[in-house]
Amino acid sequence: MTGGRPCSPDLGCARPQPCSEATGAAEPPAATAGGMQTDGESLPQIKGLMFDVDGTLLLSDRSLGGYQVLPGAIEVLTALRERAFPFVLLTNGSNYPPAEQAAKLRQSGLPVEDAQMITPSSVTAHHLSRRGVRRVLVLGTRGVGHALAEAGIDTVYTGESGAAEVEAVYVGWHPECAMKDIETAAHAIWSGAKLFSASDVPFFATRQGRTIGYSFAIVGAIRRLTRAPVTVMGKPSLHALRFVAGRLGTPLSQIGVVGDDPIVEVVMARRGGATALAVTTGTTSHEEWLRQPARCRPHRVLTDLRQVLRCIAQPIST
Ligand SMILES: [Mg+2]
Repeated sequence: MTGGRPCSPDLGCARPQPCSEATGAAEPPAATAGGMQTDGESLPQIKGLMFDVDGTLLLSDRSLGGYQVLPGAIEVLTALRERAFPFVLLTNGSNYPPAEQAAKLRQSGLPVEDAQMITPSSVTAHHLSRRGVRRVLVLGTRGVGHALAEAGIDTVYTGESGAAEVEAVYVGWHPECAMKDIETAAHAIWSGAKLFSASDVPFFATRQGRTIGYSFAIVGAIRRLTRAPVTVMGKPSLHALRFVAGRLGTPLSQIGVVGDDPIVEVVMARRGGATALAVTTGTTSHEEWLRQPARCRPHRVLTDLRQVLRCIAQPIST
């Protein structure tokens, strides 16, 4: 469990103050209702659900080599599937292609179809394709660039011929990133390439506690050199939430976003007019949720993931 998280409600902006330290006027504490904490807002109709993965449905090992499925996760997804209630999973993890990630989750017992698994690379491939981008430098594992290549984008990596001659630089999961990668990205940007990142999150919840977000650190280095603006494609960007809406076939205002991180899922939901449902199994404890300022405060804090089934348009009893 962590406290003092930095806020980052804007794409690529600085992280000025901890979410748990609201600036300005003091805000009222949350009240209790029906076993769930609420800030008094009534829940809009939820006709599609987006689940975060790490800290919400499971905890990974720091090496991403294994999973511990969290209580209620299999039960909730199974109930939704049986009722044909639309749901997707959106992780900021970009190491695996979506279908490969979905297969790993199925092995852990989570009923997730390939098409229900979304990564920032899914969003990036869609975004860049629609804008006619044809060639991208990928700073990440081969899994990071997979969705882009599948979309017909020419993906190149550091050390390959013409690696700096690209229209965009896309940074994702890259534990082996070296200074040559930073240097190649900087040259690409100085030649006119735009900078995109899978994630803008400094750390996420794993079984071993905080694990750093590589793309956050790498983009920091690139921007220190180039001062280039960055477009974040994963959570909390609206690019990601709009992609989710398209996949669910649900307007933003009817999406329930379930997650463990105030500056990731809750900020995204609030900015997009969706409903934020928070869990206490990841980065944020119950007490920390209650201290959030309005922009980071969920509509509901779920003390048990199974409570999500009572928040949807056609409640499901378990
Ligand atoms: Mg999470």
